[in-house]
Amino acid sequence: MLRNDQLDQWDRENFFHPSTHLADFARGDLPQRIVTGGSGCHIEDRDGNRLLDSFAGLYCVNVGYGRPEIAQAIADQAKELAYYHSYVGHGTEASITLAKMVLDRAPSNMSKVYFGLSGSDANETNIKLVWYFKNILGRPEKKKIISRWRGYHGSGLMTGSLTGLELFHKKFDLPLAQVLHTEAPYYYRRADHDQSEAQFVAHCVEALEALIAKEGADTIAAFIGEPALGTGGLVPPPDGYWPAIQEVLDRHDILLIADEVVTGFGRLGSMFGSDHYGMRPDIITIAKGLTSAYAPLSGSIVSDKVWAVLERGTDENGPIGHGWTYSAHPIGAAAGVANLKLIDDLDLIANARDVGAYLKAVLQDALGSHPHVGEVRGEGLLCAVEFVKDRETRGFFDPADKVGPRLAAALLERGVIARAMPQGDILGFAPPFCLTRDEADEIASKLGDVTRAVLG
Ligand code: PLP
Repeated sequence: MLRNDQLDQWDRENFFHPSTHLADFARGDLPQRIVTGGSGCHIEDRDGNRLLDSFAGLYCVNVGYGRPEIAQAIADQAKELAYYHSYVGHGTEASITLAKMVLDRAPSNMSKVYFGLSGSDANETNIKLVWYFKNILGRPEKKKIISRWRGYHGSGLMTGSLTGLELFHKKFDLPLAQVLHTEAPYYYRRADHDQSEAQFVAHCVEALEALIAKEGADTIAAFIGEPALGTGGLVPPPDGYWPAIQEVLDRHDILLIADEVVTGFGRLGSMFGSDHYGMRPDIITIAKGLTSAYAPLSGSIVSDKVWAVLERGTDENGPIGHGWTYSAHPIGAAAGVANLKLIDDLDLIANARDVGAYLKAVLQDALGSHPHVGEVRGEGLLCAVEFVKDRETRGFFDPADKVGPRLAAALLERGVIARAMPQGDILGFAPPFCLTRDEADEIASKLGDVTRAVLG
C-alpha cells in the first residue's frame, strides 16, 4: 500500500466523495477513513482499527464481509466472460439464473425482472415503465407520482424528486413537477399525541385521499413507498397502514411501486417487505441485498399486469427504448446468484429475524429509560434509536448541536459504526444478517455508555 500521507493527500485533492461536506473535506476538517478489509460484521481500516459495522456499509452488505463463495463466483465469471450485453435477447447463464431465482422468491403475481445497477436507476426505470404503461393504455394524462415525505428513493433527477428529504432537493431545482408528496407513516412524530395507531392510519389515508381529490385521480399514475421508511428515519409503518393505503390506490386505479432496495431479500426477517406488511405492488425495486453489494446490481420486478401491457406496447411500437450498457452485467449477476444461495444455505433471514428482535430488546433495555431517548424501534435487522431534547413534548434538539452525529462519532471511538440519519437525531442500526447476540450486546452496551457520556 502507498505511504499513508500520500494517499491522504490524493484523496483530498482528487476524489469527489458523494454525500459529503465538500468544503470541510477539502480543508481537512472532516476525517478520512481508508477501508482496507472486512470479515463478518467487521471492517478494518489502514490505521489498524477493527470496527463493528452495525450499518452493513449502507445497509447493503447483508451476508457480511469477506465471503469467499461470492468472491470466487465473481472471479470465475470474470475469467470466463467478464461482459456481454443483454440487449435484443442476449443473456448469460448468470443473468438468466438470477432472474429465475429472483422470481422464485418474489410475490406470486410478479412476472419478469429488468436488471440495472443501482437503486436510483431502478427507480428511474420504474417511473419510465409506469409512464409507458399509461400511454399504451391510452391514459396520457394519468402521470403524476405520489411519494411520502421522508421516503428515500435515490438521488437522480426523478428519484431525487421522489425522495422526500429536503437535503436532496435544496439547490438542485427539485422536486420535478410530476411528483407529489404525502404524509409519512411516522407514528412517533404524529401531530396529535393522543391519536391511537388506528386513528393515525386513518389520518394518513385522509391526507392521501385529500391529495388525490385536489390533483384529480385521473392525473395520478402511481404511488411509491418503502415498506418501512429507511433513510428518512428507519420507521416501520403503524399496524394496518399498507392494507389501508392499498385500498385507496386500488379504488383510484393508482399503481403501487414497493421500493424494496433496503427491505428486499431479508432485512425485515421476511424475504420481501411487501409480503411482510400485506402490500400488493405492481412493481418492486430491488438492489442492495440482491448481491449484498459484492457487485453493483439492481432490479425492477414487474407484475403480470404491467408485463402484459409492456408486451402489447412493443407489438404496437417496436422494441422498448430503454436499456443500460451494464444491464444484467454478468459479474453482478454471478455475485447475485452466489449471494442468494448463501442466504438460503446459512438461513440468514431467520437469523435477521431472531437476532433483530434481540437487538431491539437489548437497545430498549440499555436506553429505553434515558430521558433523552424518545423511541427505540425496529423490525428485523432494521432498528433505530431516536433522541429528543424533551421526552414529554418529543421536542427536537437544535440541529446546530449535531446531537446525532456527535453520538455516532463517540460510538465510533468505541469501535462501533452506526449511522446518524440525515433528518432528526436518529441513530440507525442495520447490521449484516450474520450478527451474533454477543455483537448485539456490544452495540447496545456501548451505545448506553456513549449516550450517558454525551447527553448525561
Ligand atoms: N431506494 C431506497 C429505499 C434506498 O434506501 C436507496 C439507497 O439507499 C435507493 C433507493 C437508491 O439506491 P442507490 O443508492 O443504489 O442508487
